[in-house]
Amino acid sequence: MSDKIILTGDRPTGHLHIGHYVGSLRQRVALQNTGEFKKIFIMIADAQALTDNFADPGKVRRNITEVALDYLGIGLDPEKSVIFIQSQIPELTELTMYYMNLVSLARVERNPTVKAEIQQKNFGEGVPTGFVCYPISQASDITAFKATTVPVGEDQKPMLEQTREIVRKFNDIYAPVLVEPEILLASNEACLRLPGTDGKAKMSKSIGNCIYLSDSADDIKKKIMSMYTDPTHIQVNDPGHVEGNTVFTYLDAFCKPEHFGRYLPDYANLDELKAHYEHGGLGDVKIKKFLNEILQEELEPIRKRREEYAKDIPAVYDMLKKGCEKAEETAAQTLAEVKHAMQIDYFS
Ligand code: ATP
Ligand code: MG
Repeated sequence: MSDKIILTGDRPTGHLHIGHYVGSLRQRVALQNTGEFKKIFIMIADAQALTDNFADPGKVRRNITEVALDYLGIGLDPEKSVIFIQSQIPELTELTMYYMNLVSLARVERNPTVKAEIQQKNFGEGVPTGFVCYPISQASDITAFKATTVPVGEDQKPMLEQTREIVRKFNDIYAPVLVEPEILLASNEACLRLPGTDGKAKMSKSIGNCIYLSDSADDIKKKIMSMYTDPTHIQVNDPGHVEGNTVFTYLDAFCKPEHFGRYLPDYANLDELKAHYEHGGLGDVKIKKFLNEILQEELEPIRKRREEYAKDIPAVYDMLKKGCEKAEETAAQTLAEVKHAMQIDYFS
């Protein structure tokens, strides 16, 4: 076993979707099952969700359950991965307070992901300070567990950069307490930032262009059949475009060679299918049906397992509570080291 530690998580702002799955969730389960990590922490980021949903706490609360069920459905195992809720670990908030001193106002305002999210969310009366500062709170989440490895989607790159800057500055000014984490991105280009079914840049709970892990077989099919493809591909015989065609992007993310044998034996592989589409003569319905078969096969076992866990919600909360207790032990240890390094441990 290595000394590597994983920290990652999701905001409880909705059910988890296939963008999360290919961007981070699928990899987490694979990493969990290698047994190579010393510790794995999976956080439901409710405090972060409140930075832009502060007026709707009910939504955040409800979605704690949904995200926990999604986790169990995909195969995260509480025996191997500590699953916990951010707000229940006050040490994280305390760290944020100290890290804020290490980041200039200009620096928080420069974060490209935050900038894009500010554009996308219509903050009526102004952008909440807590929202602009959430990357600093993320640095607390990551460093509290001394995470070495953070498996996330591409939109998190600036957050990891911010965290590394804070770590370097802290260690330089005070003492070498914190660990610089590495981002772990999906190796497949399509998975870094899966587009929504509407062809928009990113599938996102807040935009509502998602195929959810908990969607029924019918819903999945409906969403796929009405998906955005190539607006210039009008007649079947017209040459089609594969770049920017969401169906092909999803095929890039999900299709395996064995799927052709099972569902589309006329083609040997995805390259052949793409070539035919580009040449003309291959209709959207056919590629959508193929995608549907693949997604149904992948998502059905997840949905079934999720439904099993949903029969005993108190057991899910018991699991979360135990996870919070374990997480707090580690975070408290780091916070003690941080306070010692900062000379604010007056009574010890
Ligand atoms: P919200 O709209 O509330 O921000 P979200 O859909 O962006 O929700 P998050 O909880 O912010 O989801 O992200 C959780 C994790 O999933 C992060 O690691 C993020 O990088 C990854 N992720 C989110 N959307 C995608 C996507 N479309 N493709 C790949 N990874 C994604
Ligand atoms: Mg997000």
